[in-house]
Amino acid sequence: MHRTLERWNKTKSAELYGISEWGSGYFDVNENGDVVVMPFPGDRTRAVSIPEIISGIQARGLDMPVLLRIENILDSQITLLNESFITAMRDLGYRGTFMGAYPIKVNQQQQVIEEITQFGSRYHHGLEAGSKAELIAAMGMLRDKEAMLICNGYKDEEFIDMALYATKMGFHCVLVVEMPGELPLIIERSKALGARPILGVRIKITSQANSHWAESGGELSIFGLNTRQVIEAVDLLKAEEMIDCLQLVHYHLGSQISNIREIRTAVGEACRVYAGLAAEGANMRYLDLGGGLAVDYDGSQTNFMSSRNYSLDEYCIDIVEAVMTTLDDEQNEYKVEHPVIITESGRALVAYYSMLLFNVLDVTRFEPEPPPATLPEDTHATIRYMFDTLKGLSVRNLQEGFNDAIYYRDEARQLFSHGKITLRERAMAESIFWTTVNEIARLSDQLKHVPPDLANIHNVASDVYYCNFSVFQSLPDAWAIGQLFPVLPVHRLGEEPTRQGMLTDITCDCDGKIDRFIDRQGVKRTLPLHELKENEEYYLGAFLVGAYQETLGDLHNLLGDTNVVTVKIRDNGEYDFVGELEGDSVADVLSYVEYDPKALQVRFRETAENAVREGSITPQERREIMRAYDRGLRGYTYFER
Ligand SMILES: *Cc1c(COP(=O)(O)O)cnc(C)c1O
Repeated sequence: MHRTLERWNKTKSAELYGISEWGSGYFDVNENGDVVVMPFPGDRTRAVSIPEIISGIQARGLDMPVLLRIENILDSQITLLNESFITAMRDLGYRGTFMGAYPIKVNQQQQVIEEITQFGSRYHHGLEAGSKAELIAAMGMLRDKEAMLICNGYKDEEFIDMALYATKMGFHCVLVVEMPGELPLIIERSKALGARPILGVRIKITSQANSHWAESGGELSIFGLNTRQVIEAVDLLKAEEMIDCLQLVHYHLGSQISNIREIRTAVGEACRVYAGLAAEGANMRYLDLGGGLAVDYDGSQTNFMSSRNYSLDEYCIDIVEAVMTTLDDEQNEYKVEHPVIITESGRALVAYYSMLLFNVLDVTRFEPEPPPATLPEDTHATIRYMFDTLKGLSVRNLQEGFNDAIYYRDEARQLFSHGKITLRERAMAESIFWTTVNEIARLSDQLKHVPPDLANIHNVASDVYYCNFSVFQSLPDAWAIGQLFPVLPVHRLGEEPTRQGMLTDITCDCDGKIDRFIDRQGVKRTLPLHELKENEEYYLGAFLVGAYQETLGDLHNLLGDTNVVTVKIRDNGEYDFVGELEGDSVADVLSYVEYDPKALQVRFRETAENAVREGSITPQERREIMRAYDRGLRGYTYFER
C-alpha cells in the first residue's frame, strides 16, 4: 500500500512508454516533460519539442488532428539504408553495389515521392511502380536517370508501352514479368516500338515467410513464376533473340518480415535461380529482393509480428553474406559476377517520419460508486455475500473472489428479473460488483503470475479517453490487422500518469478504438494516461505511422483526410514549416461520395423555405441556418473547438 516516495520524472515516462526501444534514436523526452524529435539520431542539441510544434501549427490556424511529418527523418532513413549496405559490402569485400527502389504504394503522396527522389538522388535511390498510375507518377517525378525504375504488377499493353517509352527516354527502367502471359505481349510491344527493354522475372520463393502478408511470397502466392515457367520464359526469349534483355531476378516475401532467418533463406534460393539464369545465357546483373525490411513498432526486438529480431546492419550483412556464400560456392560451376543488389524497402524508409497528433475531447472514468460501509439490516443474502467477497479480497484469493463476484452478480440480476429485489438494491449490487472488479485489478498488479481469467481485467476496469481522430482514416492497420503503433502523451511526461485508459475515436463505430498497446512482454490492453486538466488540452501522438496508413484509410462516418504539416529542422536546431496541406472539408468528403455540395445547398434552401412557409422558423432564422450550413460545408470534418 505504500506509494514510493521517489518523485516521478521524465526518465520514468520514457521507460514506461518504451521510447528508446521503438524510437530508433529519433525521439526522447526533454526537461519540460515534452516529447522531442531528434532528426539526427541521439543528438539532443538539435531536439525539437512536439508540443512547441503543435503551438506553431495552431497559431497558423490549423486544427487537430494533424499528421506531422519530419522531413529530416526520411532523409536520415534513406541515408541509413544506403550507407548500411555500402558498409556491409565494403567490409565483406562484395564486388557489386546496392541500389534502392522505393515502392510507391507504401505512401504515394506527392510530397513523399518528391522528398524521396530529392533526398535519394545522392544514392541514385529509385522508385518501384506496381500499377500504371504509379508508373505515370514515377515518370513525372524521377529526374535521376541512373536510379532504378522498376515495374512490377499486372501489365496491360498501355502499362508496357509506357515502360518502353521510359526505356527509350533513357530511364533505367526494368519490366518485371509477373505472369507467364505477359512476356509475349512485352516482346511484341518491344518490337513494335523499337525498344530494347531490360527484363526481370518475379519468382516464387518456396521457403515460406512467416509474416502477416506471407501469402504474397510463398509457393502458393498468386504472383510470380514457378521454375517451369521461368524456363519457358528463357526459351521464348532465346527464340526471339532477346535473352540478353533478361537481367534481373525479383521476389517479394511480403511486408514486415520479423524473422531474419526467413530473409536469409530466401536470398539463398533466389541466388540459385540467378546463377541458373546466367548459365542459361541471360545477361544477369540485378538481384531484386523486394521489401520486407521490418519496423520494430513495439521495441521488443523479437520475431513478434509488430517487431523484428534483427538490426538494419544485420539485415544488410546477412543479405550480402548470403549472396556471396551462394554465388562464390566452390560447387557453383557457373562463376557469376556479384550482382547489383536492389531492395524495395518502403515501410522502413517512411514509417518513422510521420506521426498523428490529436487532442482528447473527454474522459469517462472507471469509478464505480462506492458501496456503503455497512449494509442495511434487511439486505438480501445474495448482496450480502457479494459484499463479504469484496471485504475479504486479498492478493491470495483474487481468482476465487473474481469467480464469486461474477456468480453473485448474475444471481442478483436473476433476482431482479423475478421481482425479488428492488431497482435500488440491484443498483447497489452492481456498484459492489464494479468496486470488486476495480479492487481485483489493482491487487493483480502485485501478482507475478496473473491467472488467465484476470489477464484482461484492466480492460474492463479502465477509463475511456475520447480522442479527436478516426482509426479508420488515420490508423487503418490498427483496425484491420491489429497492427500495433506506439501511442503516448506528447507532453506532461514529468508527471506520473495515474490513470489507465483505452482510446476511442470520434466515429460512432464500436471498432473505432485502440485497446491494444505496445509492451515489451506482449500486448497491453490499456495505456497509462494523465488526468485531464481544466481548460488545458491533452495531446497524444501515434508514432511510426508513415507507412501504408495514409492511403489505406477510408471515409468512415465521412471523416476525411487530416491536416498535414511538414517540418524541416535546420542544422542549428531551429525549424521551418515547409509544407502545409489542409485536410478535407465537409464539402470535399461529400463530393467523394458523389454529392454535389452546390446542389445540396440548393435543396436545403428549399427545405428551409418550406419551414418558413409553415411558420416553424422565421426568415431571419432561415438566414442564420443557411449561414451555418455553408460554414459547415467549408469546415473541417473533425471536432473543432
Ligand atoms: C509492398 C511491396 C514492397 C514494400 O514492402 P515493405 O515491406 O513495405 O518494404 C516492395 N516490393 C513489392 C513488390 C511490394 O508489393
